[in-house]
Amino acid sequence: MDIKENLKNIKDSLPQDVTLVAVSKTKPIALLQEVYDAGQRVFGENKVQEMSKKYEEMPKDIAWHMIGHLQRNKVKYIAPYVSLIHAVANLKLAQEIDKQAKKNDRIIDCLLQVKIAQEETKFGWDKNELAKMLPEILALKNIKIIGLMGMASFTADEAQVKNEFQTLKKLFDNFKTYTDANFTVLSMGMSGDYPLAIACGSTMVRVGSAIFGQRNYQNQ
Ligand SMILES: *Cc1c(COP(=O)(O)O)cnc(C)c1O
Repeated sequence: MDIKENLKNIKDSLPQDVTLVAVSKTKPIALLQEVYDAGQRVFGENKVQEMSKKYEEMPKDIAWHMIGHLQRNKVKYIAPYVSLIHAVANLKLAQEIDKQAKKNDRIIDCLLQVKIAQEETKFGWDKNELAKMLPEILALKNIKIIGLMGMASFTADEAQVKNEFQTLKKLFDNFKTYTDANFTVLSMGMSGDYPLAIACGSTMVRVGSAIFGQRNYQNQ
């Protein structure tokens, strides 16, 4: 498995305006460094402690994205450096990020995670609930909501996945009309479905195993 070649093939296949987040969770620093050396500067992690450790050890021009479910009591650890938080899924979390951002004299970019999949296990806002709450979230001064994030169902049914991506894209376009110009990022698509996500309007894909190979959680 040649990581650099994987990265190059994926990058070559992406439209210019689609951002690639290299999802490096569970992977050792040496592999991240390889991808960094090949030019990648945006990395995604889903665990606070792991991301902070990698932040300490890796070059400082990396944009670190927290892509996973984030607990409120851990926001303080990433607030000084995180570049984008993808999975803001409730008001209390948004308020905590706002508070910690203020403490660090920062404005932190965030995405609102919308539940588009059928699976009960997936997090995110119900879209009607979110429409109601949006003004209150947008009023928070130290977070900047720059778009939406979603995860499609884990299924081989491509029509269903497409339908879920289209639902998110529609909501994104709808919200865009009544927020300001900040609303520019639609984060959807992973190793198994990113070409379809892009066809449905994604501007940011989160790709892990297609770059780094399968994850082995037993080594954790
Ligand atoms: C792990 C993860 C990814 C990447 O998954 P792959 O299938 O390895 O590309 C993308 N998004 C989130 C939220 C993840 O947790």
